Amino acid sequence: MTPESGLPSEFELIARYFAPLSRGFPGAYGLLDDAAVISAAAGSELVVKTDAIVEGVDFLPDVPAELVARKALRVNLSDMAAKGATARAYLLDLLLPSSVTESWVASFAAGLARDQAEYGVHLIGGDTSSTAGPIVAAVSLFGEVPIGRILRRGAARAEDTIYVTGTIGDAALGLAASRGQLPGLDAAHATYLLDRHRLPQPRTALGPRLLGLATASIDISDGLIADLRHLCEVSGLSAIVQARSVALSAAARAVIADQPRHLLTAITGGDDYEILFTAPPGLESRIAELSRSSQIPITAIGQVTATAPQERPQVTVLDEHGRALAIVAEGWTHFGRRPRIETTAY
Ligand code: ADP
Ligand code: MG
Repeated sequence: MTPESGLPSEFELIARYFAPLSRGFPGAYGLLDDAAVISAAAGSELVVKTDAIVEGVDFLPDVPAELVARKALRVNLSDMAAKGATARAYLLDLLLPSSVTESWVASFAAGLARDQAEYGVHLIGGDTSSTAGPIVAAVSLFGEVPIGRILRRGAARAEDTIYVTGTIGDAALGLAASRGQLPGLDAAHATYLLDRHRLPQPRTALGPRLLGLATASIDISDGLIADLRHLCEVSGLSAIVQARSVALSAAARAVIADQPRHLLTAITGGDDYEILFTAPPGLESRIAELSRSSQIPITAIGQVTATAPQERPQVTVLDEHGRALAIVAEGWTHFGRRPRIETTAY
């Protein structure tokens, strides 16, 4: 750290707060070496993923450190789950401005400890540095999957059914509520939606069980429609979504009953951290059974279709009258135009 910072030295921080999180993973060498060792079990291969979360972009500056840590880990766990992989270990790159206190780091580490216990992963290394900018927490996650079985975005087939886990749009509506854009919303509903924004629930119990069922899979982080488009583009296919089939929480339904245009907030907003996957017709009862035994809702929302010759893959969302909704901005993007939602149907 810089000498002006009120924090102990990086070595003290590592020894005090991070080394304990490596216990139980021999290849981490107690965070006392330059690098760590990790291998996949026989018959499996490593799956790797990194995602950084940035203060002011991915989390609001007043969010408690414990929640920042857990979100940093969980957004990566969500990607791992969508690939059918099981997470094992992670690296943490932490960039801290001088305004950060030791109690912030202690709370951050406590958040990691809590989620390590919940998800069965260990911290095996990283980097700690100072910055003149906002807090950045970058997690690189390592998981494993049976060799050659990783669930890809690009393997959807025409006629596949499109499924989503959980409910869609809660986090985006939670963010709208926190900005005062949903006046009149019941307090319990507002709390539910905001919690969905602050702390994603990655579908780690489900992801590996999609192997052998799903053809293609993606985690929904940019928004349902944007991520479905990502899957379609790599698969070279199009999709039709029935808006009325999209699974919504009671809180989201209450918002939309009051202001129908927020259906578009729900299906284009980001931060769901649910899994969108495709599967061929005929697997409905196995998927229903998976939903029952994992206690995770899985809902069919539409169908993959062939793309017309000479056309780019299209994602069409139909309302209850079978009319296509016009969606200008399909989801979150970091650079370029800010997300903007316009529709002719509402
Ligand atoms: P180097 O001098 O080689 O860059 P460091 O002094 O940065 O190594 O780190 C020493 C050890 O502590 C390494 O094992 C590194 O992986 C680990 N480490 C540093 N920062 C973190 C962190 N934020 N989380 C977990 N491990 C860390
Ligand atoms: Mg070194």
